[in-house]
Amino acid sequence: MGRWVWGAIRRSLRPSGLVLVYDPGYAVRVGTSPIDPLRAEMVLAFLVDQGLVRRRDMARPLAASLRNIRRVHTDRYLESLERREVLEQIVGTPLTDAEAEGLVQSQRLAAGGTVLASAIAARTGQVAVNLGGGFHHAASNRGMGFCALNDIGIAIARLRARGFSAPILVVDLDIHDGNGTRLLFEEDPSVHTFTIHNQDWSPSEAASATVMPLGTAVSDATYLTALRTALPEVMGRIRPGFVIYVAGADPATDDMLGDWNITAAGMLARDQFVVEQVRRKGAEIPLTIVLGGGYGGNAWRYTARFLGWLALGRVVEPPTNAEMLLRRAEELHRLLREGARRLPPASDWAFTPEDVAAFMPGAAAPRRLLGRYTSQGIELLLERLGVLGQVRALGFSLPTLELDFHLPDSDCVRLYGDAAKTELLMEVRFRRDQSRLPGMEVLYLEWLLLQNPRREFSRGQQSIPGQKHPGLGLLRDVTAWLVVLCGELGLDGLMYVPAGYFVATFGSRFIDPVRQAQLEAMRRALAGLRLVEASRAVEERRVVDAATGATVPWEPAPMVIPVSPRLRERVEGPEYEAALEAALSSLSYRLRLPSETNADA
Ligand SMILES: [Zn+2]
Repeated sequence: MGRWVWGAIRRSLRPSGLVLVYDPGYAVRVGTSPIDPLRAEMVLAFLVDQGLVRRRDMARPLAASLRNIRRVHTDRYLESLERREVLEQIVGTPLTDAEAEGLVQSQRLAAGGTVLASAIAARTGQVAVNLGGGFHHAASNRGMGFCALNDIGIAIARLRARGFSAPILVVDLDIHDGNGTRLLFEEDPSVHTFTIHNQDWSPSEAASATVMPLGTAVSDATYLTALRTALPEVMGRIRPGFVIYVAGADPATDDMLGDWNITAAGMLARDQFVVEQVRRKGAEIPLTIVLGGGYGGNAWRYTARFLGWLALGRVVEPPTNAEMLLRRAEELHRLLREGARRLPPASDWAFTPEDVAAFMPGAAAPRRLLGRYTSQGIELLLERLGVLGQVRALGFSLPTLELDFHLPDSDCVRLYGDAAKTELLMEVRFRRDQSRLPGMEVLYLEWLLLQNPRREFSRGQQSIPGQKHPGLGLLRDVTAWLVVLCGELGLDGLMYVPAGYFVATFGSRFIDPVRQAQLEAMRRALAGLRLVEASRAVEERRVVDAATGATVPWEPAPMVIPVSPRLRERVEGPEYEAALEAALSSLSYRLRLPSETNADA
């Protein structure tokens, strides 16, 4: 984990305090669903207002890395999340493209929150609350019921990857069945999923699970009796070393989706019972709490009451919605005013204009890279191709992508080695192009930079013009990525205009066979030289025509790496080969001898 994140954790810890994890990016509107995008904000505003937490005591997560997400979800499923209709099925309501993309991003961020909260709880033995998450219906190869990414499973898988081996208990008291989590750990007896809900969503043959469907119209007495009977027995049997509590607020009587009659007192008694079981004196088990479901404008009040009690040890009644909205607006306004003057660059908690814009309805639909990819789509591809793994192996532990749509004609992707985006590793500018090859469409590569910013050129080491740092050693992998993009987009191939000899040597062909013949004649003349030396010889115009002694200059012309059969035919077919052979037979180059003068000079 990066320095920045651990710094945030350290700063957020207070003796016996409650650790809260949150990011404004959790807030999301989902079509016409009764999800209150301000739920967590209201809880937070209440806790801040009561003096129970200070904004600077909070930890702000990074979006869960695909490395962690892929520990529980399949690539095929993650790819399918690029499609709006898949997300519409998951939430059961029509979505705009912007909403679909926002949904995945917000759940990924919230999953990062559950990962971070679990890391804090495991490390400190404290109670850490993620003011989001609880997407318990998502299984490895499908999402459902508003849940695209199972943050609980992702956090558990990451704890396991970090060597945490004690039994883990998930106490899921959302009114809906935590079936996705149960399926994820169906064959893992070391993770027990305990869920009390209205009805089962999936059958269970899990190795270690408690599944208690209570039906409809459940009252406080039935609910609390079930919990007080079953949970202590499971705790005693499992002896968990870590607990994740999904404190869904949707069993509450006024919930807009739930069909139970649990009172505010019943909800609080439930939450208190779970915490008292887990945090019993002398056996304080690390506890992570995630919000889970809770629908309509009152859902936040149950969570606020619970967390207020957790932080303070006594119950404080949250104010009315109207009053709280006003306080929240004042707080936001104050932060924005301060923010305009001074916001520390890596603040744990800072509203930016983008954060605020995210709350505004009608934000413009996000653009997609090459008309197809979200940032996550591109990142998934780089992760699958092993590029990000190699970047991590080079010591850049938090590779971070940035898509830039500010250029008029092309899209730009930057890859940084760090979350703060100070270490630029790769910059690619490209576009889809139909103008350069009649009847075909290519991925036109305008610019490609690959560098290792932590290394400097050593004395005498030759650098390529314009490059400040030595390369990353990933050209081949990045080229492979570009070729894969062509394939996925149905493009004919990758095209670029090499600025110099060395760029023309990584396995592609000039469209013009005569130009290709010149390159091959050059290659013969430069045989025996190292690539850097050969490249320098061309740059210094030391390659001459063997017959006339005239300098052979480097002339930029378009090259392609063909992907489609028709472009392959175009630059590798018999017609091209014949033209190439013919041109080559009349060409012979050699290196100018030191004694010869430069004919151009
Ligand atoms: Zn629910």
